[in-house]
Amino acid sequence: MVESSSTRILVDAGISCRETFKRVRALGGDPCSLSAIVVTHEHADHVNGLVGLARKLKVPFFMTGATHQAWVRSVRDSTGARPDAARIEFFSSGRGFRIGDIEVRPFTIPHDAADPVGFTLHAEGVKIGFVTDLGYVPVSVRDHLRRSDILILESNHDLEMLRGGPYPWSVKQRVMSRVGHLSNEKLAEFFARDYDGSAAFIILAHLSEQNNHPEIARSAAEQALGHRRTLLENRILLAKQSEALEPLRL
Ligand SMILES: [Zn+2]
Ligand SMILES: [Zn+2]
Repeated sequence: MVESSSTRILVDAGISCRETFKRVRALGGDPCSLSAIVVTHEHADHVNGLVGLARKLKVPFFMTGATHQAWVRSVRDSTGARPDAARIEFFSSGRGFRIGDIEVRPFTIPHDAADPVGFTLHAEGVKIGFVTDLGYVPVSVRDHLRRSDILILESNHDLEMLRGGPYPWSVKQRVMSRVGHLSNEKLAEFFARDYDGSAAFIILAHLSEQNNHPEIARSAAEQALGHRRTLLENRILLAKQSEALEPLRL
């Protein structure tokens, strides 16, 4: 969740409505004060809670047209019912839009979904970069992330753990592909070569429970950043699937 003094945006809704409410309240927030939900893509781990939240909250959902179509299709397949689409607002990748006083800039990322995006969010002089679910970091994504004060980046799997892990070979290949997920190693490469060192906080997110370990992800990132002596701040934090991250204030 990203919050300015007047606007609260939830990026994706992968967990159930009840769990989302619980976590927002645990941080001292009021789920009913959410301004909007923005959706990166239609994979289940990003939209599982949407139907429930649509029923409970009268907030708009922002997604691209192609993501919406794919989402509607998948909800229909699993429940037979069309999700309540009354509050959908469409955006297109590459075109910024505003929710309250937060400016949202979506950009295309390489992932095997209909129209997946990452975001930068801008408010009160702070820039947040949010990218998970991408097979690699293209130059375009790197450029979008420049001068971010907070970065939320995928550190999905450790390559060796994935190779030796329980997934079937076809799934392993998908995860490792250019439209799969970002490994600790590829993220470390980004840190070592392409990252501009601007962020006070870096949050490692979308860690696989089977194919990664938080300490392995952290140490890969720290090592890569450690080679860049000019970087002073860059505090690394880990986002957990099971609980909410403490609020960050800049
Ligand atoms: Zn995905
Ligand atoms: Zn995902």
